[in-house]
Amino acid sequence: MTQLRNIPSVERVVSSDLLAREVRAYSRDWIVSLVRLQLDKAREIVREGAEAPSADEVAEAIRQLLESMNRPAPVPVINATGVVIHTNLGRAPLSRSASEAAILAAQGYSNLEFDLSNGRRGSRQAHLQDLLQQLTGAEAGLVVNNNASAVLLGLSALAAGKEVVVSRGEAVEIGGGFRVPDVLSQSGAILVDVGTTNRTYARDYENAITDRTGAFLKAHASNFRVEGFTAAVEPAELVQLGADSGIPVLHDVGSGALLATEAYGLAHEPTPQESVASGVGLTFFSGDKLLGGPQAGIVVGSRELVEMLERHPLARAFRIDKMSLASLIATLMHYLRGEAEREVPIWRMISAPVQILEERAESWKKAITSGSSVIGAVVETRSAIGGGSLPGETLPTRALSLDCSSIGRGAEGVMQRLRRSNPPVIARIEDNQVLLDPRTVLPEQEGPFLKSLQGAISSP
Ligand SMILES: *Cc1c(COP(=O)(O)O)cnc(C)c1O
Repeated sequence: MTQLRNIPSVERVVSSDLLAREVRAYSRDWIVSLVRLQLDKAREIVREGAEAPSADEVAEAIRQLLESMNRPAPVPVINATGVVIHTNLGRAPLSRSASEAAILAAQGYSNLEFDLSNGRRGSRQAHLQDLLQQLTGAEAGLVVNNNASAVLLGLSALAAGKEVVVSRGEAVEIGGGFRVPDVLSQSGAILVDVGTTNRTYARDYENAITDRTGAFLKAHASNFRVEGFTAAVEPAELVQLGADSGIPVLHDVGSGALLATEAYGLAHEPTPQESVASGVGLTFFSGDKLLGGPQAGIVVGSRELVEMLERHPLARAFRIDKMSLASLIATLMHYLRGEAEREVPIWRMISAPVQILEERAESWKKAITSGSSVIGAVVETRSAIGGGSLPGETLPTRALSLDCSSIGRGAEGVMQRLRRSNPPVIARIEDNQVLLDPRTVLPEQEGPFLKSLQGAISSP
């Protein structure tokens, strides 16, 4: 009990010199309420037998709390992993014009839902209609805040209370809680899985048709590959199968590659254009994977079906915000102008010539050899595409490899120092060496990158 009496008063903590600046910068009442909370916590641990903290200790805890609340988040980091679409690092970086479009939309008013020709209310979706038609060949389109919500909206609007036929090989989990069977049940649709994990035939779908069938769903296996004795049914064949009974095909292509990935030495990734051309009812894809834009979910397809989605209450719940909409339009314009490979950062990274990557890795090696005992070497390795697209597909690259055995703390220690640098650098470890891949380091980050790197490998 004596210890409880040693707990400082609110007044003593608030008047501590350590909080003088904070009391001036924030409202005094707010600081007082933080102190009260902190003292409540102190009382609890004192009851459990700990010593009472001093007024300065409590004040310091509050000062640190305020400091961490004031730190901007998320902070920019440098991606030296070589993984082009890194979900944990925010997926696709935006092009300059896509970023500027988001800033413009953020800073002022806009004709987001206002028709400038007649002064009446407009639709935020109207701005995208022509673009999506031109780029995918579809009659109509709709954009929501990500592909997970697009698929949930599609199933809810078209198949709630009805059966949806899915191949067992496509009842997949994409990651982050997106599992096809769970999304289906959330929408109120009933999953009818057909075929086997590795082989599903047209007759499997055909045999599953009942008078309660609401749709066929095809989902792209974005993050794994089934090899060997496999069979799947092409979207065009499903379209034919469903035509007689009026069953629409819903096609989740995942990454939304508008460019042909095989032109870059990668496996073929299904494109929205070919999905639309196959005659499916609706095609779903993400905005921030191989499309290289902001987080968004895009649905294109027949006008009749798109309108059913627009009318569903979830369309309002999932609607895209003005900044993402503006940067998505700016991103799509790069494709329309035929400049995507040059302007969209992820395509610039994917198409980077090995010779340029080698030159950059060599220049990094030069920059570290002076004044460090770490031995750097330029090595041949592979960059991954990542982010739920092109599973297992890699591109040849050159990376700077750091042999950290000479500096005691080893590869893990250097990785940690890189993460704690300003700006933080994220690398990867292969065979006990730290690997830094120039493919995903944006050219304008080169200076800060080298500063962080030099700091991380110098003596403490
Ligand atoms: C990534 C992915 C999703 C989820 O998309 P988000 O835009 O991340 O919500 C859904 N389906 C497939 C096939 C995917 O690859």
